[in-house]
Amino acid sequence: MAKLIDGRAIADKVYVDLRRDIAEAKSRGLTPGLAVILVGDNPASRAYVRSKDKMCRELGLYSVKLEMPASTTHSELLARVEELNRDPAIHGILVQSPPPKQIDEAAIVRSLDPRKDVDGFHPENIAKLALGDPTGLVPCTPLGVQRLLIESKIDISGAHVVILGRSMIVGKPVALLLMQKNKNANATITVVHSRSRNLAEITRSADILIAAMGQANFVKVEHVRDGAVVVDVGINRLEDAASERGYRLVGDVAFDEVARKASAITPVPGGVGPMTIAMLMSNTVKACRAVNSV
Ligand code: NDP
Repeated sequence: MAKLIDGRAIADKVYVDLRRDIAEAKSRGLTPGLAVILVGDNPASRAYVRSKDKMCRELGLYSVKLEMPASTTHSELLARVEELNRDPAIHGILVQSPPPKQIDEAAIVRSLDPRKDVDGFHPENIAKLALGDPTGLVPCTPLGVQRLLIESKIDISGAHVVILGRSMIVGKPVALLLMQKNKNANATITVVHSRSRNLAEITRSADILIAAMGQANFVKVEHVRDGAVVVDVGINRLEDAASERGYRLVGDVAFDEVARKASAITPVPGGVGPMTIAMLMSNTVKACRAVNSV
């Protein structure tokens, strides 16, 4: 049976270090500040924003939660972002995805001050990731996946990492991050997607398999070799009349069967999810320190 990689416990460890960094920043008169903008009333987005705000407060960060109606125009949102770009108390800005249709999300990301882009999606930060420039802000979920592996003492260097999914949020940046030339990366990377041939054959050659597809329980025992490490990024809602909410969350990996074959595996929930928030907090502190050169 695979060892469980406990994302909540590892996130708590990250928070211990972060609290120390935050206390140090405060002793210099600096409070890292994060602004999260929610446009519209998507319930999942609302829940994510709430938990980000809650975590900021628990850590003693300055937190601004801006809720804008679903009818907000692109230029109204742009104006708010520009105000926050100019606000010296704010070191990180995040516009919760997905925004309503009238908003050009890519243009909003480009309008962020890259030094405040704690999601790490601004073209300047993506370029820095590709260049291996450590001054950039790296997207939170990929950073969380890397940290889970490091803290679980799983050797990334030289490992064949197969990533299922090529999105700009997870698949591509995780590939860029884990192929970097440093001791916490140095992986041999293969990225597969919906047009890949012989998908199971490729995934079976993975030492570390990272699933980020958004397909409930897709990864089965035949996709995984004996002893592989399996990281499940997926968060999918499955209808479940027995549950109080009417649904339950499952990952992209059929956990029970894959756990019997893997050497280590992340659960959903409680795996990558808590790490994504922890890395957002960490990026906010990093952004604050960088801009103040401390
Ligand atoms: P996207 O829908 O943007 O990308 C999914 C990727 O998976 C695409 O590259 C797609 O291929 C590929 N894919 C989909 N179906 C298949 C298939 N049958 N075979 C092979 N490849 C397939 O999703 P995201 O990257 O945004 O998110 C992925 C999952 O991760 C979601 O469940 C999301 O909720 C979750 N997530 C979790 C986070 C966390 O904190 N834990 C954070 C962010 C996301 P193609 O490009 O060819 O279409």
